[in-house]
Amino acid sequence: MNILIWFRNDLRLHDHLPLQQALTQKTGIIPFYCFDPDHFGLSSFGFAKTGAFRAQFLLESLQDLANSLQEIGSDLIIRQGKPEDIIPQLVQDLNISQVYFNAEVTSEEIYVEQQIEKKLSQLGVEFISFHSATLYHPIDLPFKISETPEIFTNFRQKIEKDFCIREPIDSPKRLPELPNIQRGNLPSLEELGLETPIFNTNAVLKFKGGEKAGLARLKEYFWQKDCLKSYKETRNQMLGANYSSKFSPWLANGCLSPRLVYAEIQKYESTRVKNDSTYWLVFELLWRDYFRFIAAKHGKRIFYLSGLKNIKFPWLEDWERFNLWREGKTGYPLIDANMRELLKTGFMSNRGRQNVGSFLTKNLGINWQMGAEWFEYLLIDYDVCSNWGNWNYTAGVGNDARGFRYFNTTKQSKDYDPKGNYLRYWLPELESIPGDLIHEPWKLTKAEQIKYNCKIGSDYPFRVVDFFKSIEHNQKLYSSS
Ligand SMILES: Cc1cc2nc3c(=O)[nH]c(=O)nc-3n(C[C@H](O)[C@H](O)[C@H](O)COP(=O)(O)OP(=O)(O)OC[C@H]3O[C@@H](n4cnc5c(N)ncnc54)[C@H](O)[C@@H]3O)c2cc1C
Repeated sequence: MNILIWFRNDLRLHDHLPLQQALTQKTGIIPFYCFDPDHFGLSSFGFAKTGAFRAQFLLESLQDLANSLQEIGSDLIIRQGKPEDIIPQLVQDLNISQVYFNAEVTSEEIYVEQQIEKKLSQLGVEFISFHSATLYHPIDLPFKISETPEIFTNFRQKIEKDFCIREPIDSPKRLPELPNIQRGNLPSLEELGLETPIFNTNAVLKFKGGEKAGLARLKEYFWQKDCLKSYKETRNQMLGANYSSKFSPWLANGCLSPRLVYAEIQKYESTRVKNDSTYWLVFELLWRDYFRFIAAKHGKRIFYLSGLKNIKFPWLEDWERFNLWREGKTGYPLIDANMRELLKTGFMSNRGRQNVGSFLTKNLGINWQMGAEWFEYLLIDYDVCSNWGNWNYTAGVGNDARGFRYFNTTKQSKDYDPKGNYLRYWLPELESIPGDLIHEPWKLTKAEQIKYNCKIGSDYPFRVVDFFKSIEHNQKLYSSS
């Protein structure tokens, strides 16, 4: 008898509950990954669901997983097709009695699970789910998922009262040899309908997929560069590899377990320093948990235009302005620099994401789902719950207790990029504009435009909207929604 381990967003050997449980069963173990064509289709606004940056990271992660499995006597079986067709077929071909997997919480993924379960029950095969994605195991929460507090602070305070985060599980040392079966090959990017992305040397980091690279990044950020001790002070910056952990792509693909990150933070606290910064990284990981449990609680609602709060705002589908936003041509340097970074590298800082999300929704009044789908297409760290949950929040249709909250783009630019270094990095056309003027190029006089070699309207765009007039307009609409 064999157990099939269906790998999904859990591409690692450490802290892997299904693997650990399978090892206790003394049966054969068959690790398996399925390329689901749905993940490579188009979103409702016509963007690719998975862009080249993330697809490449995924392929690297799978190659790394296959290598690690080979090192311990096993391998990764790879197939392309719908998991609900492929898994029942494998079960019949390979004498499989149980299928173990880490469960997801969002509607499309749950639908696939249900289809598989139906087919397997007809074959008399057990389909057993585990939960390995969050810091908190769902059964250790002090409330039922259906009672997850709507407001983050309430959520955090409830779970922090009695912190109970499980120890990460060690990687298996050895797995049983596979039966005689074709391994299957990883598809190329071309076969997935994507072009190989060109690495942009301005990128914050050369993100490489896989558990080994994720563990190496953890080691570098915590232990070699000793950045954790000042994380709280640097985390709102936008330039460089080390202002924040950059763990997100590895966490999203499951190459890193959040519990392993937590265990390392504890080790760091006991051997180096325990301070606000070490706490703050845990705090941010709790946001990740929060969005996942909120998604599990509300089901499809996180994807609705009216969001979790059922707000009927008259969102626009203004493609002309949306194109200016996504190409980084709004005339607001902070927005443009961030959107160009995303387009060229597949990454953007948290500070940037908050600002561009606020600008799209609160200034341009554009359908937030278009923004969420654009992020889904490009982000190397795309995670369904974190992305759609944060967009709900940013658009003011989620659980943000502060209602119509907007970011003052120019103030944010001056506060978080006081010397304009980030702006100059991504917007070379503004390079020679000195001092504070770089944050507000629309204020340049004709003479200054000539002096600084930046003609507004040709070298750099006019502002797409007046900041405060657009806020006022949308605020009124929001109040009556
Ligand atoms: C509109 C919008 C969309 C976003 N989409 C995603 C997404 O698809 N995937 C994703 O992982 N994060 C998303 N985030 C959250 C956050 O911006 C990124 O997790 C963070 O920028 C990743 O960089 P880091 O790993 O260096 O973060 P760090 O600051 O080092 O934080 C450590 C980890 O904590 C978690 N985290 C931090 N902030 C948040 C947050 N606000 N929500 C959820 N988890 C958080 C992440 O797993 C992150 O890797 C989004 C935020 C916004 C405002």
